[in-house]
Amino acid sequence: MPTTVPDLGTWRKAARAWLEEHAEPRPAGSPAERPWGEGSDSVAVFHNLSFDDEAAILRANQAWQQAKDDAGYAAIAWPPEWGGAGLPAEYARAFAEEEAAFVVPPGAELFSVTVRLVAPTVATFGTGEQITRFLRPLRRAEVLACQLFSEPGAGSDLANLSCRAARDGDEWIVNGQKVWTSGGPHAAYGELIARTDRDVPKHRGLTAFLVPLDAPGVEVRPIRQMTGGASFSEVFFADVRIPDDLRLGPVGDGWRVALTTLGFERSHSGSSRRRPGGSFEQLAAAARHFGRAADPAVRQGLAGLYIGATLLRLNAERVAAAARAGHAPGPEGSIGKLFWTEHMARLTAVATDVLGPRLAADTGEWGAYAWSEHVLGAPGYRIAGGSDEIQRNIIAERVLGLPAEPRVDKDVPFRDLPR
Ligand SMILES: Cc1cc2nc3c(=O)[nH]c(=O)nc-3n(C[C@H](O)[C@H](O)[C@H](O)COP(=O)(O)OP(=O)(O)OC[C@H]3O[C@@H](n4cnc5c(N)ncnc54)[C@H](O)[C@@H]3O)c2cc1C
Repeated sequence: MPTTVPDLGTWRKAARAWLEEHAEPRPAGSPAERPWGEGSDSVAVFHNLSFDDEAAILRANQAWQQAKDDAGYAAIAWPPEWGGAGLPAEYARAFAEEEAAFVVPPGAELFSVTVRLVAPTVATFGTGEQITRFLRPLRRAEVLACQLFSEPGAGSDLANLSCRAARDGDEWIVNGQKVWTSGGPHAAYGELIARTDRDVPKHRGLTAFLVPLDAPGVEVRPIRQMTGGASFSEVFFADVRIPDDLRLGPVGDGWRVALTTLGFERSHSGSSRRRPGGSFEQLAAAARHFGRAADPAVRQGLAGLYIGATLLRLNAERVAAAARAGHAPGPEGSIGKLFWTEHMARLTAVATDVLGPRLAADTGEWGAYAWSEHVLGAPGYRIAGGSDEIQRNIIAERVLGLPAEPRVDKDVPFRDLPR
């Protein structure tokens, strides 16, 4: 924390002046306030892009992040020893509010994973040498890094993973497979959690690494999604050698490293202001345009969405207030994430009701078939970053104090677990 914190109003004014100098102002009004048919009608949850288009979006995010970092606006609430400005979280929120009035690059999953998940994890667990080598490039998104956690047999039960790293002198040899890796083909590194000891219970035999994805033996295979895009991939490791100086944290401490990264992910997805996938206002405008706004069932659905959007905003404010009061991110992240995915499911249901057959065939009509990208993409967020059921478990155990799930394998060595 800097010894003197600038006055928030003065600081905000300087930030706005910087934004005015470096970005174009956003056209006035939200998409729904603009006349019907004007501007983009995209309500996509995930980008549906070619490799080159995705690379272009990533480059735009990288350039914007570096410009912000040069000016001290990329890591406002991070401590100075991480290269941050060391200001309270409300300064970061003030910047985000100001930034929302300008045209900035659209969100990109790999960019967020790099800057919001991997960079702070490296800052938390990295050796002095790793921090010198990686923290600045990750914070500035000069180097992009993906999250190599999930496997075909380990998702919600991540500690069950079986990708192995075996020690060989100063190196580790990695064999196994990861899946659902967002942004894999564009990443230079991955934060890998691998099994290094099969003789201890599953949570205790894991170790984290930063693995270069151009190492011999690494193969990244994109997965085509039902939205048409291919932003995920499978990543295969065949005798991949990683030097020990790319190990992140102590041997056997990979679970703590993974939980730290997942904590950054949950607190971000539960409180974020920038959410993809269409809004109540856009759907209400569609209902009016297509003559469905007088239908009682549609009106009921829209009223539910309005209430949901308001509650989401209030929960985000509650998270912000807790952060202002100095509380570490808690289970509010899970509440926010769960409520958001339920809100998206309601949005899907009302969009289906409003648009009917217009969702099934693209006739080129503005503001109609575009909603199919929402409908096909929204279910993904019920799974990503911890499924709805897992968020409910967290809320049940940590908020409501209900009994924990039985964990019969807690003390059993990994090699003795049935599989
Ligand atoms: C958009 C998106 C992006 C992703 N990006 C990445 C990434 O970059 N890197 C990465 O490593 N992974 C990524 N993932 C993978 C994601 O983390 C996993 O899909 C998720 O953890 C669920 O694991 P799973 O798919 O193996 O499902 P499973 O864990 O097999 O779950 C199957 C079903 O069982 C339910 N279930 C499981 N356990 C319980 C329980 N204890 N109680 C009640 N119900 C339960 C689940 O809720 C789900 O409905 C991504 C996924 C998505 C959808």
